[in-house]
Amino acid sequence: MNIHEYQAKQLLKGFGVPVAEGVAITSADQAEAAARALPGPLWVVKSQIHAGGRGKGFFRELTPEAKGGVRLARSVEDVVRNAREMLGNTLVTAQTGPAGKQVNRLYVEDGADIARELYLSILVDRAFGRVAFVVSTEGGMDIEKVAHDTPDRIHTLVIDPTAGVTDADVAALSDAFGLEGTAREDAKSLFPALHKAFVDKDMSMLEVNPLIVMKDGHLRVLDAKVSFDGNALFRHKDVQALRDETEEDPKEIEASKHDLAYIALDGTIGCMVNGAGLAMATLDIIKLYGAEPANFLDVGGGASKEKVTAAFRIITSDPNVKGILVNIFGGIMRCDVIAEGVIAAVKEVGLKVPLVVRLEGTNVELGKKILRESKLNVIPADDLADAAAKIVKAVKG
Ligand code: ADP
Ligand code: MG
Repeated sequence: MNIHEYQAKQLLKGFGVPVAEGVAITSADQAEAAARALPGPLWVVKSQIHAGGRGKGFFRELTPEAKGGVRLARSVEDVVRNAREMLGNTLVTAQTGPAGKQVNRLYVEDGADIARELYLSILVDRAFGRVAFVVSTEGGMDIEKVAHDTPDRIHTLVIDPTAGVTDADVAALSDAFGLEGTAREDAKSLFPALHKAFVDKDMSMLEVNPLIVMKDGHLRVLDAKVSFDGNALFRHKDVQALRDETEEDPKEIEASKHDLAYIALDGTIGCMVNGAGLAMATLDIIKLYGAEPANFLDVGGGASKEKVTAAFRIITSDPNVKGILVNIFGGIMRCDVIAEGVIAAVKEVGLKVPLVVRLEGTNVELGKKILRESKLNVIPADDLADAAAKIVKAVKG
């Protein structure tokens, strides 16, 4: 689950992390009061969408010359003018895809006097199985280019979970950033605080780009992008409350209500599979046979008929879906339950596209019999390759 920048900053502030003062607004009428609540003389008007690269983004509805999704303003009037121009329009960035995202909220923030822009992120390093800091002196809006062209400018520091962020870690990070004086002093509390926020709140990523050294020497978190581990959300009611469903795919929201692991993709073949590994293999083999999957979906080990029906409903609600592939390996999951779920779903939502079903494992004969006797227009498949070949052929004609 992702949250907005202004929410991330609020949360980090609770851990003692230095952030600028700011006010979130949802209508241009609120812009003047927001600007007046801050001291000036520099304000920043920042689009709040669940995607990065806002500064270099552009608004679809505005002329190409119109500035990006993060704008500096030097007067209250300037804040109001920018807010009017940005709110309600569609911001396209390198991370939104060409469709862009509608800006429904702005964060009006106190402008900072920037001396240096650094890059810092915390994530779970899967190779080490530990939390790691990833840092670079080349922070700001071109970090992707730095990572691509000069990867040696990016450093990783793995944290020992039993020790936490030690003095030696802080020193190593400070050296990597070339921090001195006041900034080096600030780092002693900032780096452990960021790490504590990451661990306490079960984040999967915390990206601060840029972390700045200000002209007065102090450090400040100027941008914050946070993702949380969905599997740990149940123990963070405060984090759940930050969810902004308008930023999420409605199909993914519906899936999460039924405890289905569903990710929307761009292709035409809807997939219903049990087990994440099998689901990944199914996506791969669809591509191997020359088509693109419309989604990842793991119905889980012990799915009920209701869950299967919900999954089917979500798949068919995607207008891009031109065919459906059900690929079930019955272990705990019984093939007859899947068959009944599919039939119930088809009765409920109808079936307007070809459906290939590959069943294997527990109660497979019973499952096949149920499908056969249902007289539904199901194309049976023997194995994974056969299933992929059949659905791709059915969709491509
Ligand atoms: P994004 O990463 O989505 O482009 P950022 O929040 O990083 O958005 O903002 C882009 C750039 O705008 C930053 O690299 C920084 O130079 C500038 N900026 C952002 N917030 C402020 C601020 N409060 N004061 C001064 N400059 C800012
Ligand atoms: Mg940024």
